[in-house]
Amino acid sequence: MIRPNEARGPHNSGLIAYIDAMNPDIVIPVREPAQTGCDDTILPFEVSALDLRGRIVRLGPAVDAILTSHDYPLPVAKLLGEAIVLTVMLGSALKFDGRFILQTQSDGPVRMLVVDFVSPSKVRACARFDAERVAAAIAAKAAAPGELLGHGHLAMTIDQGPDMSRYQGLVPLEGGDLEQAAHEYFSRSEQIPTRVRLAVAEEFRGGENGSRRRWRAGGILLQFLPKSFERARQADLDPGDAPPGAEPHVLPEDDAWVEGRSLVATVGDVELIDPELSSERLAYNLFHEHGVRVFRAAPIEAQCSCSRQNVEAMLRSFSQEDRDDMVEDGKITVTCEFCSSSYEFAPEEVAAKTPSQRADT
Ligand SMILES: [Zn+2]
Repeated sequence: MIRPNEARGPHNSGLIAYIDAMNPDIVIPVREPAQTGCDDTILPFEVSALDLRGRIVRLGPAVDAILTSHDYPLPVAKLLGEAIVLTVMLGSALKFDGRFILQTQSDGPVRMLVVDFVSPSKVRACARFDAERVAAAIAAKAAAPGELLGHGHLAMTIDQGPDMSRYQGLVPLEGGDLEQAAHEYFSRSEQIPTRVRLAVAEEFRGGENGSRRRWRAGGILLQFLPKSFERARQADLDPGDAPPGAEPHVLPEDDAWVEGRSLVATVGDVELIDPELSSERLAYNLFHEHGVRVFRAAPIEAQCSCSRQNVEAMLRSFSQEDRDDMVEDGKITVTCEFCSSSYEFAPEEVAAKTPSQRADT
């Protein structure tokens, strides 16, 4: 389980850098958009004429495997699905080997969401919630994402390994959903005009053994990254300690961005999850008037990174007293919160090594 990192390092350009460093190999000079959709992929694209860049995420079996294994109440599963799409969207742009961890902590019925992305393609996720409060919220028809989250914060951590510094961005959750939190993050911390759409739904399909429900999810991220400095100018965010009565510095939004964000606002949930609509076709439908270039699509897979070795090391890090408290029926059992894998140890297997044993290794 990942503990929240309380460190609030200075906001650096963690997210900007990897967006700029998007793989420049253009593999599709000019052709018709692909007709068939490809699940569990992420498609980066660019609309040069409008200085727009973006990514389309399409998840099928990967999100279904994660959400089905947990069997959370439906609105909790849907909310976690949205967090998975957002995490994949941001984490898949890391240009180095590392982890991207999205974590919420809030006072709503869903206390915590954790999505852990390991570059280039592995994702796992889990939620902690109060079952009674979730049931009450569902009964009161008050189980929208923002209502389940409540107030708290969302943290996005980039971890490049033990010898590298961690970067963490924090954004408050104030009763809104994850799309709103993402917009707030990019506006405040990164100062990049950004729009995000996230969609999660269950698909019902008839089959030989009765109908089967499958989770599907999708999303689109669009950012305005102008090459010229003039175009990149933005209105000041907040007058801050300006004297009372001072005119706030207001700049009109760039026309290209207004057009881009208006187009993304028209994208419906169905378009984001429809297996019949390819990501390329969606990008084309939105931006074909200006010309849209797509980059190589990258695969995504649901895979946990837990292992017997890691669990053993974790158990050894506790005191003998703590380990003694964990023994039940003569053994210590640890269940991974992400994938529900169960690891069993005899107490002596994880006891602190004696000096002579240490010398042996
Ligand atoms: Zn696991």
